[in-house]
Order: sequence, then structure tokens, then C-alpha cells
Amino acid sequence: MLEGLSSSLQKAMGRLRGKGKLSEADVAEAMREVRLALLAADVNVKVVRDFVERVRERAVGQDVQKSLTPGQQVVRIVYEELTELMGGSQARIQMASKPPTVIMLVGLQGAGKTTAIAKLALSFRQHQHRPLMIAADVYRPAAIDQLHVLGKQVDIPVFDMGTDTSPVEIVRQGMQEAERQGADVVLVDTAGRLHIDEDLMAELDDIKSAVEPNEVLLVVDAMTGQDAVHVAETFHRRLDVTGVILTKLDGDARGGAALTVRAVTGCPIKYVGLGEKIEPLEPFHPDRLASRILG
Ligand code: GDP
Repeated sequence: MLEGLSSSLQKAMGRLRGKGKLSEADVAEAMREVRLALLAADVNVKVVRDFVERVRERAVGQDVQKSLTPGQQVVRIVYEELTELMGGSQARIQMASKPPTVIMLVGLQGAGKTTAIAKLALSFRQHQHRPLMIAADVYRPAAIDQLHVLGKQVDIPVFDMGTDTSPVEIVRQGMQEAERQGADVVLVDTAGRLHIDEDLMAELDDIKSAVEPNEVLLVVDAMTGQDAVHVAETFHRRLDVTGVILTKLDGDARGGAALTVRAVTGCPIKYVGLGEKIEPLEPFHPDRLASRILG
């Protein structure tokens, strides 16, 4: 995961770790390498500049712990700033005070939304919840079928009304079905398009008004780098997205999306997708990813 970024940052940090004394030139050289590593990972230029500046300020300032060597201190600062960049602490799902908790999933086609919804349903069941998935993508019958296939695979119910009913009506009836079944978590799968368009946004807005979800989670593909960040910006501006599910982080994604979604949009990553297999979705821990990257 993020191997390129990880190995180039580890190299830069490796030079510092062993040093008992650090000159300003040592810090400057390490910061140059950090900057190049982040740019190569497709991190937004402004984010890189601010990041390096913050690390440099702390590294040459008074922010030191006596128990660490100067080199170790800079490594610690980089670790802390990476963690902060990705949101600091784990961002959890807001559960409804009175069930059911409603979670709406949005995203572009191919991002991994259907896979993510099944994984999310599985995570909730693992925590003793009773999820129901609602198929509200009426434009692609294949999407409804796919959700049923996954639902069967994980033995979690799926509600659909085919493709002839409006998504708003489907979710309304789906909520009644949730009540009948005693489901305490409702996961709404919405239409994905190849590109963001106004019709899509208007429809998502209508569904959102109809179900008043506790969470609107945007599914984005880590492999698309800064494009994922632009998608997140656009969805967030229009729908007040409450969290991001970053998929395909198991592949050869360079890391730009993971490192910058939060910084650019203000919206935290809540889960990551690490494979095609339907397993419970992994909650996102900024500190763990930062330490994994730095080795
Ligand atoms: P949707 O169009 O957004 O609903 O996307 P799908 O859920 O159908 O996923 C599109 C493709 O990406 C499928 O081939 C999935 O198996 C694959 N996929 C989804 N999530 C992941 C992931 O986290 N890692 C990998 N490697 N593949 C994924």
C-alpha cells in the first residue's frame, strides 16, 4: 500500500534518524526529499508547500523532546504532521440517537460504491446491528442485480422496487420496510454516473431531503489521485458530505487522495477499501497509516 511514497519518505527519514546533531542544511535536504516524495505521490502542490513549511518551522524551532535525538525528533514531527494532515484522529460514524441510522452512499460509477455498501453492511452486522440495504440506482438494472448478489453472499436483506419507481419513493418505502424488519441501520445505494452532472446532484439532494440521513458517505477511488479530490470537493460543496470511503487503497494508488482529501475538502476519510473481496470495511486511522508510510 502506497509503496512508492513509503519508500521515498523512509529514505529521507533514514538519513536523519541516525544523526546525533542536525545542521540546518541536513533539515533543508530532508525537507527537499519530503517535498519531492509528496509531489511524486500526486499530493496537491499547495498542500505539499504548507506541509513542508510546518515541519520545517517545528524542526528548527523549540519543539523538541529531550529523550530523542535531533534526527528522531524530525521523524516524529513528520509523523505527527502526516497524521494531522489526514484528519488527526479516527472519524467515526454518527449513529442516530433513535434507530434506524440512515447512511446514504454516493459516488461516481466504478468507484466501488456497490462493493463498499456490502462491506459496510457486513461491518455493521459484525457489531450486532441489523442492516438493510436499499437499491435506489434506477438507471442501471445491473446495479440492482449486483446489490442482490452481494446481499445474498453476505446474507443481508436488500430492498428494491425495480427501475420504474422514483428513487425518492423507493427510499420512502424502503424506510417503511426497515421498520417492518426491525432494521437499525439503513444503507442507501444511489445512482452513480460516469461524470458529475446537475441531474445527478439534484436527485441525490432530493433523496437526502427525503431520508435526512445521519451520514452521507462519498465513495472515491484512490487510484484516481487528485481527480478523487476534485470529485470530493464537488460532492461536498453540493451535498455536505459527512465522510469519505476511499477505495482501492490496496492497489498501486500513489497516495495523493489519501493524504489530501481531508486537507482540501475538510471532509474526513471514515473508511478505506482494501480489496475486491467482500469483507468488513476497514475504519480509517490516520495515525496508523502515517506510521505505516514511515515504516
Ligand atoms: P460502483 O460502480 O461504484 O458500484 O463500483 P463497484 O462496487 O461495482 O466496483 C467497481 C470495481 O472495482 C469492481 O471490479 C470491484 O471489485 C472493484 N473494487 C471495489 N472496491 C475495491 C477495492 O477496495 N480494491 C480493489 N482492488 N478493487 C475494488
